[in-house]
Amino acid sequence: MSAGSDLARRLFKTLADLTADPPGVTRVAYGAGEQAAHDLVAEAALAHGAERRVDAAGNQYLILPGQDRSRVVLIGSHLDSVPHGGDYDGVAGVLLGLALQADLVAEGRTPPCDLAVLCLRAEESCWFPHSYIGSRTALGLLDPGVLDGVKRSDDGQTLAEHMRRLGLDPEGVRAGRRLYEPARIAAFIEPHIEQAPALLDAGVPVGLVTAIRGSVRFREISIGGEYAHSGATPRALRRDAGLAGARLVTAMHEMWDRFEADGLDLTVTFGEIATDPAQHGFSKVPGALHLCLDMRSADGGALRRAETELRDAAGRIAAETGTTIRLGPRTDSAPTELSEGLRACLADAAAARGVPVLALPSGAGHDAATYAGAGVPTAMVFIRNRNGSHNPDEAMEQADFEAALSVVAAALADPRLLADGRAAAA
Ligand SMILES: [Zn+2]
Repeated sequence: MSAGSDLARRLFKTLADLTADPPGVTRVAYGAGEQAAHDLVAEAALAHGAERRVDAAGNQYLILPGQDRSRVVLIGSHLDSVPHGGDYDGVAGVLLGLALQADLVAEGRTPPCDLAVLCLRAEESCWFPHSYIGSRTALGLLDPGVLDGVKRSDDGQTLAEHMRRLGLDPEGVRAGRRLYEPARIAAFIEPHIEQAPALLDAGVPVGLVTAIRGSVRFREISIGGEYAHSGATPRALRRDAGLAGARLVTAMHEMWDRFEADGLDLTVTFGEIATDPAQHGFSKVPGALHLCLDMRSADGGALRRAETELRDAAGRIAAETGTTIRLGPRTDSAPTELSEGLRACLADAAAARGVPVLALPSGAGHDAATYAGAGVPTAMVFIRNRNGSHNPDEAMEQADFEAALSVVAAALADPRLLADGRAAAA
């Protein structure tokens, strides 16, 4: 086990203990747990000679100085977690970057350009209902309206209020202030545990991500009907919100069938479907229904078509059932292709180290999408993981982490990695 790998192994454990919230861990975005994670990683990086810089939004860079200080390779991910999450989501990417630095220092090597461990804020959108807050603020791309427009789900305080509370600079974020221009970033590599069982199924420790699915989301779909007596109200006079919701769910799944038949990438998930417990009852026609809808695709055209079909279906079903269907606010993120050049470097590095890899798309969104969208050469490395993610049972083997570490280390030693950066940034 290398010095870096051993450091990472210890910090996985320390961080799990530090932010334990049984079952699992909780690190609220802009909360105490996330801050503790930033501080823990910073302490380890400062100990091996890295410089700490924090941007206006609180994203942290732990920079190991390189031979060429005008450019930087970023390696990292986010340090917040969902409530009662696992030990590896986000953390694995940050600790892989830290382990790389520790190994370089232990071997007395200076990287060709600055190598920064990137610790991003607020990736898990369960806290603030907006995608990629950390990477968008890091690149000066956050819609300024989000600062006062989104509230944290646990305490109702805005994003700007939380930044101020940690001594950060929401006005700097509003002005688009950033520590690195995208053209200075030679590459961003985000290692992450896989959140599905594709690598397990294939018996392969490491995945190289081809593209990240985009999304269109509606978190507050509300259907209004009329509460009525279940035995007494004739069918023709009912305005049943439950029936309208069921038809909407069915219509969107039938659309998914058609997309699949056409070979179009799509997922459709209604994660919340609820009548109002304060008013519903066994013998009442439901007068209101709340739903959430999350649709994802690697194909932007497919997402647009799915949204059009959603709006058509909502209008048609409302008319048929005598209800009102309000889709409410929408959020979205565009599908993103990652850098083929970086993926080739990583694939060659893996072959040279004898590590089997699988190329695959990411079904989940990641901050890497923001970097790629900003023109930064960007790659994602998935690490095999059992039991999915966003739960206390995430299970990544240390040996698989080491396999990913060795692949990224070898890729960083490949001069093409920096050349691909220049070509793509130009
Ligand atoms: Zn994550």
